[in-house]
Amino acid sequence: MDPITELLAGMLEEVRPHDAGETASYIPQLRDADPAPLAFAVAGPRGRVRTVGDDEVAFTIQSISKPFVLALALEQRGRDGVLEKVGVEPSGEPFNAISLEPGTGRPANPLLNAGAIATTALIEGADVDTRTGKIVDALSAFAGRSLWIDEKVYASESETGHRNRALAHLLRSHDVIAGAVDVAVETYFRQCSVLVTVRDLAVMGATLAFGGMNPVTGRRVVSEPVARDVLAIMASCGMYDYSGEWLLRVGLPAKSGVSGGLLAVAPSQFGVAAFSPRLDAHGNSVRASALVEAVADRFGMHLLELHESLGEPAVSVETVEDGRLVRLGGELGFTGSERVVAVLRELAAGLAEGTVVTVDASELGRANPGALVALRTEFQTMPDSFVLREESG
Ligand code: GLU
Repeated sequence: MDPITELLAGMLEEVRPHDAGETASYIPQLRDADPAPLAFAVAGPRGRVRTVGDDEVAFTIQSISKPFVLALALEQRGRDGVLEKVGVEPSGEPFNAISLEPGTGRPANPLLNAGAIATTALIEGADVDTRTGKIVDALSAFAGRSLWIDEKVYASESETGHRNRALAHLLRSHDVIAGAVDVAVETYFRQCSVLVTVRDLAVMGATLAFGGMNPVTGRRVVSEPVARDVLAIMASCGMYDYSGEWLLRVGLPAKSGVSGGLLAVAPSQFGVAAFSPRLDAHGNSVRASALVEAVADRFGMHLLELHESLGEPAVSVETVEDGRLVRLGGELGFTGSERVVAVLRELAAGLAEGTVVTVDASELGRANPGALVALRTEFQTMPDSFVLREESG
């Protein structure tokens, strides 16, 4: 076992004794689910997925489908097209609340049931099968394998889904959803019934973590701005009416579901997922939450924590035949451009006149436009022997 997998296995054993909480009770398949399984997975940048525990157990994705269907809607309709129908404000209310904006009837956000049904209704298609097909294809592209639906769970969701149907009728009455209510709501029930494992969820999360590019298949699933929008909404609304406290304590965009799954994203680093069926009073899995909290804590993943690599970009100065070569690497942002400017000024002051200084910016992983403008402006004040190379070769 490699050291990271060993660490994950250790965390799994630490949370195993927690037996608080209850399985969801609104359908027999969830109420009677074995509460014992416990699994944990992390998917990193090069597509390596580490899993520990009951990683072969499949469960229905439930609410964790919501951010991914949102991604599909954003990709198809654009941000404004989605915002016209659904808000992005945390409601502080339970997942099935009737949280509609007075006047417009817009649901508070896409991760509540009302908002999710409105989002699902934005996926076009003549009937439930066509729409479901598009959604399952999108979820599969995020997971990097073909997913399918648990028909028994779907039948139960549909049989018992009176409140969701009522929400959908309310949305229809406000013209938030167009067309047949049944098509929207049955598509939503089918999307909730897609079967996944923790591995799938970790890869789905990693795809969001790496700007919409699936690190396992190497396929772009959604654009970078769409992935960022989805993560922003997960950060503020992903954990039901515990979202604020989750952001405070754990600090990662996340989404949980009533079957006991939980997915969280450390942008640019990894997707992490955990599964354990017993839920707390907010509807979040007790042991899965503890696992994600532990991994975030131990790897210093809180989004608002200091990240020194951002403040200290890679700048190296080499002596070469005709002068100096300044290589820039990593990400050039605000603090990075400040540092590069300081290095250049030091060189300009200390070197003999006419010494050639080549600044190679062609290997930057990412250069933010503001930082590049600052660098180019600085170059205008530098001696002619200073050369900025932005393209490789
Ligand atoms: N199928 C569930 C519902 O709509 C999903 C809820 C959830 O996972 O939060 O009631």
